[in-house]
Amino acid sequence: MRRMRQYSTATLLVRGGTVVGPEGLVEADVLAQGERIKAIGRGLPALHDTRVVNAEGCYVLPGVIDSHTHVGLDTGRFRTQDDWFVGTRAAACGGVTTVIDFATQSPGRTLAEAVEARRTEAEDAVIDYGFHVMVTDLPPHREDEIADLADLGAPSVKLYTTYRPNYFVGDAAILQLMETSARHGVLPLIHCENDDLVASRVDSLTRSGQTSWRYHGRSRPPLAEQEAINRVLFLAEAAGCPVHICHCSTARSVSLVGDAVERGQRVTCETCPQYLLLDNRLYEGPEPWRYVLQPPLRDAEEKVGLWKLLQAGFVDLVSTDHCDYTVTQKLAQDDFRKTPGGLPGIETLLPLMLTYGDLGGGTSLCHIVRLLCAAPARLWGIWPTKGTLQPGSDADIVVYDPAVESEIRADELHHAAGYTPFEGMSVRGAVRATISRGEIIYHQGRFSGRRGRGRFLVRQPL
Ligand SMILES: [Zn+2]
Repeated sequence: MRRMRQYSTATLLVRGGTVVGPEGLVEADVLAQGERIKAIGRGLPALHDTRVVNAEGCYVLPGVIDSHTHVGLDTGRFRTQDDWFVGTRAAACGGVTTVIDFATQSPGRTLAEAVEARRTEAEDAVIDYGFHVMVTDLPPHREDEIADLADLGAPSVKLYTTYRPNYFVGDAAILQLMETSARHGVLPLIHCENDDLVASRVDSLTRSGQTSWRYHGRSRPPLAEQEAINRVLFLAEAAGCPVHICHCSTARSVSLVGDAVERGQRVTCETCPQYLLLDNRLYEGPEPWRYVLQPPLRDAEEKVGLWKLLQAGFVDLVSTDHCDYTVTQKLAQDDFRKTPGGLPGIETLLPLMLTYGDLGGGTSLCHIVRLLCAAPARLWGIWPTKGTLQPGSDADIVVYDPAVESEIRADELHHAAGYTPFEGMSVRGAVRATISRGEIIYHQGRFSGRRGRGRFLVRQPL
């Protein structure tokens, strides 16, 4: 069923832009030959059949890697309305050239079966993709399955400390999975919220009849997240296992990770644009349904704290946790317990981070390229194929025009949801072109990527 690889020696020249690397800015052209970058330098010549992309006045960045997405998600209870074509088309239009999504192991199935099934689902992808493997049940005697993850090209396991009974994994199983993962170069990434603290808060809100959307933020308190992170870090230390903490929504979450790093642990963390740019006052507003997600939006001062820690280098990467539930699905019932959790965000990631990641001059751009490109590529085992502009790397390139001023509008985005949590926010600049392995898949408002051209990425273990 897998498509044949198509090799081409066509050349493409991104001319006259400012190339943004993790360490600095340089005025340079980028020449791609076939699927890879051939050269970076000033005044590179175009041959008669070279396709030229004009990047004058624009920034030229590596393609963005969104390493936490849920394209075509089926939780058993809810199903997002996108598929792999729709989801990765939205990504391409937003300058994202790689996603790392999830292959869910359902009870009774092996991890290899989960990866195989998800690869089939993803065959229509427009951009390249990899998977973290979501483990739901893994008896200790199946250690060999963790060992096999490297061979499957998916050397990371996603665990949840919440969502009883479906995805919840107890402490003993987490510890055992960490010990096993450490032996096989597999990196666990963990959704941290204390399930008991969440359940007791939901119970008390239910008893007092406060289950409408506007109470969602109160149902999952910051302490639940922080306690679970603290516990997971403690278990990781005991297991001698590196660990990645997903979607930190409070400043203390990031600080806990920073403290562990200071103690010598190998720990990384991410946050998402929604936690940097939105806050829980929106639950008091007219459309609280837009912001039902886990963890929920927090107090406004958390945004300030998260930006400070991000600027100081304590946040390793920024991802979206993209979930493409529609307005209809969100509006079905004014009850946070019965509303699918998760927000669409893949297409707005880059413009939002470039606009609001105002760290000052060139540093800001370089830092954002580290957060969105270099860091996820290194952490998830696809560096230097992805995440960098250098000869030999995949020619995944974004041309970003900083001169365009606009507002985010759902009807101009390419996902299925029909809304965006960032509606009406001003953004500075826009993606002019997205190039994936030397092929233009988006240019000046026109998407031209072919269904199924994306490839499964075999990622390297730690
Ligand atoms: Zn997620």
